[in-house]
Amino acid sequence: MAFSINEHCVNCWACLPLCPSAAISANLDGRARFAIDLRKCTECDGAHAEPQCAAICPIEGAILDAAGAALNPPGSLTGIPPHRLAEAMAEIQAR
Ligand code: SF4
Ligand code: SF4
Repeated sequence: MAFSINEHCVNCWACLPLCPSAAISANLDGRARFAIDLRKCTECDGAHAEPQCAAICPIEGAILDAAGAALNPPGSLTGIPPHRLAEAMAEIQAR
């Protein structure tokens, strides 16, 4: 089992020093963003009560669990319900 980082990552570096397994690196496999080495990620099992990368990550949807579900889903960090955000974005784009 391992987590992954997707294209929403903004390369803020916050997660990298917190990983107890040294599983996070910048530009892994030549990608221009941070990534998790699936062979090293332990999901922080036995080291911390919660995954440290997801606990510090400021971007909703950037870190996924092994099933592909966001650990910080839309609205979980901003407090803005996804439908309200979509409405606001549509209003802004209509200006
Ligand atoms: S879940 Fe834990 S072990 Fe896995 S990448 Fe995140 S901080 Fe590292
Ligand atoms: S904390 Fe989140 S946004 Fe920052 S580098 Fe890690 S995955 Fe990317």
